[in-house]
Amino acid sequence: MLKGEDLFKKIIAHAKEYGFIFQSSEIYDGLSAVYDYGQNGCALKNNIKDYWWKSMVQYHENIVGIDSAIFMHPTVWKASGHVDAFNDPLIDNKDSKKRYRADVLIEDHMAKLEEKIGKEVEKAAKRFGDSFDEKMFRETNPRVLANQEKIDAIRTRFVAALDKNDLKDIKTLIEELEITCPISGSRNWTDVRQFNLMFSTQMGSLSEDANLIYLRPETAQGIFVNYLNVQKTGRMKIPFGIAQIGKAFRNEIVARQFVFRMREFEQMEMQFFVRPGEEKQWYDFWKEERMKWHKSLGIPGELFRFHDHDKLAHYANAAADIEFMFPFGYKELEGIHSRTDFDLAAHQKFSGKKLQYFDPETNESYVPYVVETSIGLDRTFLAVLSHAYKEETLEDGSQRVVLNLPPMLAPVKAAVLPLMKKDGLPEKARELMDKLKYDLMCRYEEKDAIGRRYRRQDAIGTPYCLTIDHQTLEDNTVTIRERDTMKQERIHMDNVKQVVLERISYRKG
Ligand code: ATP
Repeated sequence: MLKGEDLFKKIIAHAKEYGFIFQSSEIYDGLSAVYDYGQNGCALKNNIKDYWWKSMVQYHENIVGIDSAIFMHPTVWKASGHVDAFNDPLIDNKDSKKRYRADVLIEDHMAKLEEKIGKEVEKAAKRFGDSFDEKMFRETNPRVLANQEKIDAIRTRFVAALDKNDLKDIKTLIEELEITCPISGSRNWTDVRQFNLMFSTQMGSLSEDANLIYLRPETAQGIFVNYLNVQKTGRMKIPFGIAQIGKAFRNEIVARQFVFRMREFEQMEMQFFVRPGEEKQWYDFWKEERMKWHKSLGIPGELFRFHDHDKLAHYANAAADIEFMFPFGYKELEGIHSRTDFDLAAHQKFSGKKLQYFDPETNESYVPYVVETSIGLDRTFLAVLSHAYKEETLEDGSQRVVLNLPPMLAPVKAAVLPLMKKDGLPEKARELMDKLKYDLMCRYEEKDAIGRRYRRQDAIGTPYCLTIDHQTLEDNTVTIRERDTMKQERIHMDNVKQVVLERISYRKG
């Protein structure tokens, strides 16, 4: 089975070859960490958005959706803390001239130690067989304990340094851990500096500081500043949520790993407004709900895990990530944050406008607390695509690449294929297209042998191929071929729409 780097390379190549993702401005050699979605990618992305939107806005009576502008008043970002604190610590290697996130270098080092522990455990599990007690082994094995102690010590020091913004100590820690640059292999590091991730630009024709505005680095603030507008006009009662899907921009220091870390990306966020004091219970609720959502995409549960944050962002009193096993390891896919009243209280202070909610049940006014779920659309796309990508050897020895996408997410739901380009088969196939196209995203294809057309549809994850042959002309039946099993059955043309719609329904997952 393909894994790791090899799998990742194949996925990137496949995404390009089949019109899912192109490098932005490719004819000019691309723009770093910016990507375009092609015809199939755009459709898959829209389907993921649609599913998320429905899961939030349609399936919950107390959640509504909005679409706020990318540009916002610059004071929004002062109030939110982004102007002062939306930084990453960066460090350069003087020999390779490569730039790194200092925190990531340290986290990678800790991950290597974790890996060593994992290997010890694996070895012991093999040695002891059924009688292996992993918990006991982890608590008593000297090598495991020594590595665990190292990890704990690094984490404590690292978190303290980040908390105090002690950049000198972060550098000292990198030196003490003897972390080398993966490119040059040297330990010749610059000092650590803070780097603000927001892109800025000028609004209007004057280039004065007063006109400096930012491209939003998260969609959440558009929700915060509108929360009372929505609450009042929608007559919403706490607890309620506001959802939004939209572009966000971050000048990432190291932008690698394809659409995992981009400088322009899309977020799907939901801010849930609750009574102060009830945030913990809602935080737990949304953690579970969101995990269920991920599993509902047909991806096995063991590929996801929670990661509770050691160091909380300036606005949070609890935070966890849902991580996914990407081809390059477990990485953050979604964040669930209990943001307290940090944002609303700050906007109240900076704007001088009251942002309180009057609670008719308790007869009190207060600034609500917020629990947010914040997921990257592009990362979800990558998770779905990397799980779906399969290379298979068939019974006759031939190979196929197939995307086992959940049918509801597939870019094309059904391909309409006349067996031959003659004898009236194309006309009959067009008849079927006309019956389906208003309700289903279909593609018509008549070029090449039927086998090759099936392969092309497999490669973009089309769940059903409908073939029109000579028998169709006699009895109006067509064959319907299922992507994963490749099984075919004959059904009447009049039933095709109903059958496909039922099989691709959200309820089927
Ligand atoms: P990371 O630690 O990976 O930089 P983050 O913790 O800064 O991510 P959040 O601010 O919590 O991310 O943003 C919410 C979600 O937005 C993330 O879980 C991720 O899916 C997505 N996201 C954040 N930054 C990027 C990016 N540069 N490219 C693509 N998606 C991103």
